[in-house]
Amino acid sequence: MKRFLIVMLILVAIIGLGVWYLVGEGYVSWEKKEIREFRLPDKQAKNILNISAKYDIPWYYLAAWEEEKYDYTQTTSQELEKIAKAWRSILGEQEATEKNLREVMIQEQSQAKVEKVFQIADAYQWQAEPLTQKYAFPFAPDVRKKVSYSNSWGDPRSFGGKRQHEGIDLFAPMETPLVAVTKGKVVKKGWNTLGGWTVTIQDEEHPQFFYYYAHLHHYPEGLEQGDIVTKGQVIGYVGDSGYGPEGTTGKFAPHLHFGMYVRSGYIALQREAVNPYVFLRMWDPDPKK
Ligand SMILES: [Zn+2]
Repeated sequence: MKRFLIVMLILVAIIGLGVWYLVGEGYVSWEKKEIREFRLPDKQAKNILNISAKYDIPWYYLAAWEEEKYDYTQTTSQELEKIAKAWRSILGEQEATEKNLREVMIQEQSQAKVEKVFQIADAYQWQAEPLTQKYAFPFAPDVRKKVSYSNSWGDPRSFGGKRQHEGIDLFAPMETPLVAVTKGKVVKKGWNTLGGWTVTIQDEEHPQFFYYYAHLHHYPEGLEQGDIVTKGQVIGYVGDSGYGPEGTTGKFAPHLHFGMYVRSGYIALQREAVNPYVFLRMWDPDPKK
C-alpha cells in the first residue's frame, strides 16, 4: 500500500511538471483572446503589408498603431512609412518583437497609448494572421474572371429569421470549382438548412481559424470529413443549394458563401465570425475587379 502511494505521488509529480512545462512554453493556453471587429480597409491593408515587408515589422503592429492614432479615418501611408522607418532605424538588426517595439514606442507615446496599440495588435495577430498573402483565393486564377463579389458582410438576411450576413458571397457560374485557401483539415462536410451542401476546413498552421464554404453543387469524389486538404486543392463546386430541407436548390443565384470563424482560444469551443472581405481582397489574384 505504501509503495503504491509513493508510485502515485511520483506519477502526479511527473504529470504536474509536464503540464507546467507545456503551459510555460505556450503549447497549452487557457488564455481567452479578444476578437475585435476587424475594420482595416482593404486599400490600407495593402499599404500596411507593403510597409511591413519593406521594414520587416509585423503588419499587426503597424495596423494597431494606425488604428489607435487615426482609427483609419485618413490615409496615412506616408506617415506610417516614416514611423516604420524610424522604428527600424532604432531597432537596427534587432527583430521587431513586442518587447523590442515596446521600448521604441514608449519613448514617444504615453504608456496608456502604447498599451492600447499592443492590445489591438495582439487581437489582430490572433484573428487576422491569414491576411498575409501566403493564402489562396477560393477560386483558382484560371476561373477568377468568372467571379464577382463585394463587401456583403453584415447585410440583412431574412431566411431563418432576421439576421446579419456572416460572410461574403462570391458569384460564379454553376459548378465552377472552388479551392481550399490554405492547408487544413475537413472538420465538417454535409447539409445544413441555411448553407445547403457545405465544407468547413480548419487551418493547419493557425488552428484558431475555420473556413466555411456553403451552397455547393457537389463535392469532388473522395473528399471526406477528416481529410487533410492542401492549399489550392478543389474542395467543391459552386451551386445554389440551401434554404430548406436536404436537396433544396434554386432559391437564389449560384454563388459561394465564404465564411471565416475564429476561436477565442486554442481550447475554446466558441467560434466568432469575422469579415472575410479584406482577406479575400489580399488573396485575390485580380484585385482590381
Ligand atoms: Zn452568403
